[in-house]
Amino acid sequence: MAEPSSATLSGARVGIGVSPGTAFGPVVQVAPPVRPPAGEPAAADPEAALVRIKAAFEGVAQDLTARAATADDTAQQILTATALIARDKGLIKAATKHLSAGKGPAAAVDAAVEDYAAQFTALGGYFAERVTDLRDVGSRALARLLGVPAPGIPPFSVPSVVVAEDLAPAETATLDRSLVVAIVTQAGGRTSHTAILAAQMGIPAVVQLPGATRIAPGTPIAVDGDTGEVTLNPTAQYVEDLVVRRRRRTAALVGSHGPGVTRDGHPVALLANIGGVEDAVQAAALDVEGVGLFRTEFVFLSSERAPTVAEQAEIYRQVLTPFGRRRVVVRTLDAGADKPLAFANLGPEENPALGRRGLRLSAERPDLLDSQLEALAIAARDTGADVRVMAPMVATAEEAAWFSRRVKENGLPKSGVMIEVPGAALRAEHVLAEVDFASLGTNDLAQYTMAADRMQGELSDLLDPWQPAVLDVIALACRGAAVTGTPIGVCGEAGGDPLLALVLVGLGVSSLSMAPSKVGIVRFALSLHSLPECQRLASLARDARTARDALDVVRAEARTGLTEIL
Ligand code: PEP
Ligand code: MG
Repeated sequence: MAEPSSATLSGARVGIGVSPGTAFGPVVQVAPPVRPPAGEPAAADPEAALVRIKAAFEGVAQDLTARAATADDTAQQILTATALIARDKGLIKAATKHLSAGKGPAAAVDAAVEDYAAQFTALGGYFAERVTDLRDVGSRALARLLGVPAPGIPPFSVPSVVVAEDLAPAETATLDRSLVVAIVTQAGGRTSHTAILAAQMGIPAVVQLPGATRIAPGTPIAVDGDTGEVTLNPTAQYVEDLVVRRRRRTAALVGSHGPGVTRDGHPVALLANIGGVEDAVQAAALDVEGVGLFRTEFVFLSSERAPTVAEQAEIYRQVLTPFGRRRVVVRTLDAGADKPLAFANLGPEENPALGRRGLRLSAERPDLLDSQLEALAIAARDTGADVRVMAPMVATAEEAAWFSRRVKENGLPKSGVMIEVPGAALRAEHVLAEVDFASLGTNDLAQYTMAADRMQGELSDLLDPWQPAVLDVIALACRGAAVTGTPIGVCGEAGGDPLLALVLVGLGVSSLSMAPSKVGIVRFALSLHSLPECQRLASLARDARTARDALDVVRAEARTGLTEIL
């Protein structure tokens, strides 16, 4: 179906709200990568074309160097290294060759970049990791050559709503929190890592918004990250209503604080998901009982080389210290799939989500796991923190035993596993017998149960954790945990949905970990419902035929004190 043009885009449209909160501001469109025009004729004057190509690459190098001058350390290194690629003489030589072979200037640049990309890929390792940067340089040079906007986020200085087809996790992580009031994407899904990062950063976000990339830059829009509603050119009244709705919800939550507990006194620990030192400092200042998931791979997304034990220990100390005696569950590197780490690359795979990611990578690179465990043990000793270490992507009891042994050998007291592979949930009784605790990764569990790529936003309906099949798999894992007496929590995005949180507690989980921005409403939801009520909601949800029915029945049966502010 053809997309509407920006002229026809108006009023309200609905995507999927993935990070709560409301915001209002002008649109900044993230420009897509630039491609050469189809059927571009050969350069009439190859000499003159070459001069323009050289100027385009030099312009890109100068832009990158200027941006490096004001960037932080890590970004500075990346930008400076990328500027060097733009000045590589080999690129100009390759472009000259393609011009002489009869290509137009844009096609010659594109072909030169692709020649280089093939060489980089063949060299492997560090060079293969630079292919994305190389293509970015090529795309920027093309933009200059064709006189169109450069790809990526244009510079802006007014608080704005960033709108894109999609954002890579690294792009999201480097957004300026003080200038980005909301994020809206046309693609993406509820558990894509960009959505997770947005919630982590406390930036309201909506994904899967039809026609998002056609909204004209500068258009004022209102974003509701709870309902997924996005309104173009809202009236002053609408913006005011949004503020009022927000205020009503905030007012309902003010009286709710302290440890998570159901109405009849059943404790459910409310924990924060974090991705680094900054998150840790912010979350520790909030009313949370600790950390239920520290995604350590997020710290190293732009690291070129493996961090040393000393470097890691320093980072972990900074993460642990703010939490004092509160628990901090640290997940070992979950590299692979959409979170590739330059220093943990085992080469291309046909299906990375089903490949050597998570603990499977640790099996092939035990050096990385050992250095991480050693660093964690040092940080735990230095800070006296309550550190618990868990492995991602565990599928079997042998893997759980192998991991647990290594954790204990490093002097760390508690080992756990994520239950995010259906096979591990089915055999939870055996898998959990090997460890001290478990945490349900509902994002991947939904992906693997429903065979639906979590990166593919169009499959959001299948990835919905309300899918009764997903609830059944969670119930199985909880039953296994009950047999072994192993505490089991949830750290996937499902834990931050207040209605689903009730169902999860009814199924038997004893902790819920989520983006800190979601803790308040979940605490409030629990405080209104007793454990038997949660159990009843869980059984109603599992009896439902569809995900929609499951949500509807729980919404209808939950207490109105909650549903009227959702
Ligand atoms: C999950 O899969 O639910 C999870 C918490 O891990 P991640 O989202 O980092 O894959
Ligand atoms: Mg996962």
